[in-house]
Amino acid sequence: MPETVNLKSEIQNPFTFSQSSLQDYVDCARRFQLRYIEQLQWPAVETAPVLENERRQVEGQQFHRLAQQSLIGLPAEKLARLANTPNLARWWENWQDFRELKDLGSLYPELSLSAPLGQHRLMAKYDLIAVKDGRASIFDWKTYHKRPKDEWMSARLQTKVYRALFVVAGAHLNGGQPFAPEQVEMTYWYADFPIEPSQLPYDASRHKRAWAELTSLVAEISSKQSFPLTNDEKMCGYCPYRSYCERGVQADEGESIESEISSLDVSLEQIQEIEF
Ligand code: SF4
Repeated sequence: MPETVNLKSEIQNPFTFSQSSLQDYVDCARRFQLRYIEQLQWPAVETAPVLENERRQVEGQQFHRLAQQSLIGLPAEKLARLANTPNLARWWENWQDFRELKDLGSLYPELSLSAPLGQHRLMAKYDLIAVKDGRASIFDWKTYHKRPKDEWMSARLQTKVYRALFVVAGAHLNGGQPFAPEQVEMTYWYADFPIEPSQLPYDASRHKRAWAELTSLVAEISSKQSFPLTNDEKMCGYCPYRSYCERGVQADEGESIESEISSLDVSLEQIQEIEF
C-alpha cells in the first residue's frame, strides 16, 4: 500500500469542519485522513456502476445550479432549456411543481454560515433557507434515485450540523435574535420523489444533544493520532479511495442504499464546496 506510507496525521489548526468531513470521519477515519489531511484526489475509475454514479453526480450538481438560479429569479423558460437530459428534465419539472405549491416567505438561497466550534470552525452551505412568520425552514435538494428512510436522514451529520449551526449562527435572519430550535425545521426535498419530502422538526433537547455531539466529535478528531480503516467494509463499496486501501478497485454491485447514497452525497457535497 505505498500510497498510504508516511501519511500526515494532524489536521490544520484551525480547521473548518463541514457536514461532509464529519460524516467522512464517522463513516471511516481513514477516508477523512485521505481526503482532508492528505487532500488526495482519488484515482480515475472506469467501471460501469461508478461511471453511472458520477454521471448522476454531475447531473445533481447541474440541478442544484438550476434550482439556485430559479430561486434568484432567472426566467424559467431559459432555465428549462438547460435541463437537457432525461434526469434533469424530470427533476426540473418536479421542481417547477414544488415551487408553484409553496409560498415560502423570504428566501436565502445558497447561504453559507459558520461559527466557532472548540478551537476550530464549523461551516455549512445551505441550498435554501426560507423565513416566514418567525419560523425558518432549511431546505436541501437531493437527487437520490431511491428515497431513504426519514430515520436515516435524521441521523445524518448533515441534519445535525445544518439545524444546530443555523440556531447558533442564523440570528441575522431574525432581526438579531437567535431562532429557538422549535422555530426551525429541516426539509430534504427529493427531486425524484417530489411529494415525499423528509420533514425533520427540531427542539431544544435535540439542539443541546447535537451541539454536544459535534463539539465532542471535533475534539476527538483534533486529538487523533491515527486514522484507521473502517472495519465495516460495506463503507468501501462506493468509496473512491478503495485502491489506496486495498479494498478493491471496482465498485460493488447491489450495494446497500445507505452506502451508495452516502457516497453520492459526500462526493456531490465536495464538488459543491470546491466549485461554488
Ligand atoms: S476504501 Fe474503505 S477503508 Fe479505505 S477510505 Fe474508503 S471506506 Fe475507508
